[in-house]
Amino acid sequence: MKIFAGIDIGGTTMNIGLVSEDGQVLDETVVPTCPEKGPEDALNRIAESLKQMLAAYRKKDCRGIGIGIPGLIDTDKGCILEASNLPGWESFSIIGHLSAKMNMPVFIENDANLAALGEYWLGAGHGADNLFMVTLGSGIGGAILAGGKILKMHPSAGEFGHMIIERSGATCTCGRRGCLETYISKHGFERMFREKQSGYPMSSVKPAENEPVSPQLLAEHASHGDILANLIFLEAGEALGIAISNVINLTGVTCILVGGGIANAWDLLQEPVMRSVERNVFKSILSGVSVCKAALGEKAGFMGAARLAVDSVSKHAREVL
Ligand SMILES: [Zn+2]
Repeated sequence: MKIFAGIDIGGTTMNIGLVSEDGQVLDETVVPTCPEKGPEDALNRIAESLKQMLAAYRKKDCRGIGIGIPGLIDTDKGCILEASNLPGWESFSIIGHLSAKMNMPVFIENDANLAALGEYWLGAGHGADNLFMVTLGSGIGGAILAGGKILKMHPSAGEFGHMIIERSGATCTCGRRGCLETYISKHGFERMFREKQSGYPMSSVKPAENEPVSPQLLAEHASHGDILANLIFLEAGEALGIAISNVINLTGVTCILVGGGIANAWDLLQEPVMRSVERNVFKSILSGVSVCKAALGEKAGFMGAARLAVDSVSKHAREVL
C-alpha cells in the first residue's frame, strides 16, 4: 500500500494524518505547534509523531509528505515568505529539514489552497471541474482549483478577505477600508455588534465590559431569535454573497464551498448569501452555481496536504521517466 502523510500547521495546533493513495485516512493525531519555539522544534515533533504512526507500516510504504502552512509560501524553495501566526519561521528550509529527518520527499503549500484540495479529493467538492473555497476563521482565506489544480499567479493570490465590498466602509486590520473581513471575521462580527448595540437595547446579547463578542456567541443568540444577532448575520451573509458573486463573475467558477469555524453558522448565513448571489451573478451562469458548506471540517487541511504529496510524487515519477 502507498501511504502519504499530510500535515496542517496552524498557529496553535498541527493536524497530522496518514492517508492511503486512494484517500482512506489510516491514522491521525493533533500536536501543539508552540510557534515561539521555532520551526526546527515543531518539525522535530512532527517527525517524532510520524515515526510513531508509521511504525505500524513498512518503511518503504510512505512515499511523501505534504504540509499546509498559513501564510505566503515559496513552494520551490520550501520555505515561508510571510506568516503572521508563525513569527520568525521565515526563510527556514522546512522541506530541507523534514526531508532529511524522514528521508522522503516533502512538499509545502498555503493551507487554504490545501483545504480546497482536500475538499476536492474527499469532501463536498469531490471531483468538481472547478472549485472556489472560502475559509472563514479569525481571518478569511480563499482558493481556486481548476481541474484539481491550484490556480495562482503569485504566492499572495487568494486574499479573498481583503476584497473591497464597501468603498468607504470600516477600516480593516490591513489598513484599507470596507474589506470583506470587516464584515465576516472575528473582528467583523465584533465591529458590527459594537456599532449597532445601542440601537437594540432589548437584545439578549449583553457582554460584560471588555468581554469579546465572538461569532459563536452571536450565532447562539441569533438561533434563539435575537433581532440584533440576526441582523448582524444578515449583513455578514450579504457581504459574503457580494464577494462570492464577484469571484463567480470574474472567473466563471460554479462550485463554491464555505468552510472554517464561522461556517458552522451556515444555517444563518445561507439565505442572505444565496439572495445576494442570485441578485449579483450574471443570469447565464447562475443556474449552474452551487454554494454549500464544506464537508471535512478541520481535516480538510491534512487531507489536502496528503493529496499534494500524492500529486507531487507522481508528477516527479513521470518527469523521471
Ligand atoms: Zn483588509
